[in-house]
Amino acid sequence: RHAEPDDVSALPDGVSAPAYDPATIGTGIVHFGVGNFFRAHEAFYVDRCLALAGQHGWGIVGVGLMAGGRSERKAEQFAAQDCLYSLTEAAPDGGRAVRVIGAPRGYLLAPADPKAVPDLLADPSVRIVSMTITEGGYNIDETTGEFRLDHAAVRADLAGGAPPTTIFGYVVEALARRRAAGVGPFTVLSCDNLRHNGDVARAAFLGFARARDPDLAAWIEAHVTFPNGMVDRITPSVDDAIAGALNAASGLDDALPLVAEDFTQWVVEDRFCAGRPALEEAGVQFVTDVTGYEHVKVRMLNASHILLAFPGILLDYRQVDEALRDPDLARLVNAYLELDVIPRLDAPPGRDPQDYRRSVLRRFSNPAMADQLLRIGGDGSSKIQVFWTETVRCALSDGGDLRCIAFGIAAYLEALRGVDETGVPYTPTEPTLDAAQLELAEAEDLGAALALPAFDGWRDIQSPALTDAIVAARRAIRDIGVRAALVQYGGLPD
Ligand code: NAD
Repeated sequence: RHAEPDDVSALPDGVSAPAYDPATIGTGIVHFGVGNFFRAHEAFYVDRCLALAGQHGWGIVGVGLMAGGRSERKAEQFAAQDCLYSLTEAAPDGGRAVRVIGAPRGYLLAPADPKAVPDLLADPSVRIVSMTITEGGYNIDETTGEFRLDHAAVRADLAGGAPPTTIFGYVVEALARRRAAGVGPFTVLSCDNLRHNGDVARAAFLGFARARDPDLAAWIEAHVTFPNGMVDRITPSVDDAIAGALNAASGLDDALPLVAEDFTQWVVEDRFCAGRPALEEAGVQFVTDVTGYEHVKVRMLNASHILLAFPGILLDYRQVDEALRDPDLARLVNAYLELDVIPRLDAPPGRDPQDYRRSVLRRFSNPAMADQLLRIGGDGSSKIQVFWTETVRCALSDGGDLRCIAFGIAAYLEALRGVDETGVPYTPTEPTLDAAQLELAEAEDLGAALALPAFDGWRDIQSPALTDAIVAARRAIRDIGVRAALVQYGGLPD
């Protein structure tokens, strides 16, 4: 018989139970976007905290904002197993540890009960509102840095009259209620992969609040804190086959099993206006300025992840570890890191970029992840803006070599077309692009797609050299094939 993860007294051998009684845990955190990463990262750290004395008030209630059958199914699955689930931590050498995580103590599907969300957020016990809503979820115009008030759902939330549908509508409504009731603020904690994610969240929530009520915005600005944080743990998507394999290995009957690498890191600025769990006891590193850690992580790990993904997909690979075993792709990634990124990095004390490069490549090659290139390359439009912009700007201003960068961008645009070079179709995920924008990747003029928002971050620099290099790389991919173009464009001198 396979045990359910909420059957914590009868878990199979080798599966660790929460080191506390989940029934005794109160709600101190509300989290928006209960995806795999949140479940493997923040929930994992909070779970460790809950086992410590005096920490039982820091349980988490998750909120899902997306409507639809998949979201409803997930809510039912969470409810059916008391929000408990198993996390398998997999090391590159094949070692595994499985634990049941109990930190999420409830799950609300906002579209099914929109009134419950502001009630929950207004509760004085809630002291942190965290989120993983993807890089593109903050609705910021990359060219101006401003919150986009023209977004249809934002406009509807600002008009009022109906319950909110965006995170901005919910959080700002809750802060208005807390202010009116004399309940203090909560910390807004972004856990998305963004440069200065707290500052981005601040710009987004204040942008919304200013349009709703300038007095309220001033109160938020004075009282709510938005710490920046660097988050790091590779957490792949789990399809039915992976779920089945995880359950077969653990002996559990878990509807929501999860796998992540054994590596994990969270570096956060210690600015929590309403208190926080003792996360430093759980392995979280608190700093006054996270900038250096972010630089290294986003410009090395995330940037090389997507650089591997776009040509990897075109070459008919579907997994990160397989793609990295291809010597030409490995050479591209190494050349990008060695020539384009590392010389321009401002690494924090104690972090050696060469050690980090080796660790990133070791982590990417972890076969237990079976990590999907389509997941990594998905929402490329938002990711390029966050992961590549600074490096491209540096290369353009210091006259650096543009070959790897041009090839990466060319591969992204070719990969947008949804068919790899062996003719196998796939569906690129680009939630922020409309059909007309996607069509640009098919235009006869190979430079037309450079109007896409992915490239807004360095548009002001206007570089004909980069444009020409990208067009030439796209032409090469089409004329001589991805591999030959890869050999031509990407590589350290051997
Ligand atoms: P996921 O697809 O499992 O979950 C994404 C969640 O965000 C879903 O619950 C979805 O409903 C919600 N969401 C998406 N767009 C939203 C929006 N506009 N408003 C509100 N909710 C929205 O993905 P994941 O693996 O959990 O990754 C989520 C984010 O976490 C990433 O975009 C990244 O910024 C960060 N992250 C992920 C990893 C990783 O390895 N998976 C590592 C570091 C950071």
